[in-house]
Amino acid sequence: MSKGSFEFVDITLLKQLEQRLEGREGKEESKVFRICRRCKVRKPLLQFSTDRRNTNGKTSICKKCQIVEYLKYYYANREKVLLTNKRYRDNHRGERTVYFQGYQESHKEHLKVVGQKWYKKNKTRIKEERLKLKVNLNKGR
Ligand SMILES: [Zn+2]
Repeated sequence: MSKGSFEFVDITLLKQLEQRLEGREGKEESKVFRICRRCKVRKPLLQFSTDRRNTNGKTSICKKCQIVEYLKYYYANREKVLLTNKRYRDNHRGERTVYFQGYQESHKEHLKVVGQKWYKKNKTRIKEERLKLKVNLNKGR
């Protein structure tokens, strides 16, 4: 992968995160702040992820820095990460499919009932969504 794709991934993830945080900040009025250990910026607590291992229940670096850290790790160790994933896939090849096939076979009736129940429960919503889709499609014309 070229350097260009790194920048692409980086920016997309960060933008998504920023949008999410902005939206949440508008709703919740956060009065609790914390200084991020990485970027040294004072940020509302909701910009830090939950971390149960930590005494105060939050990570010491903000979500944005976490993503940057992850991306740095990923691209610095890309070969290793991909190799580990590939090895995992090779070692577990087919397990999932076989498992699900077996499950589907032995739970045929159960799955049918569950599916029907779900449809009944969500019938109105499904119909409404289909209608909306139709309306949107017509608008586009
Ligand atoms: Zn930070």
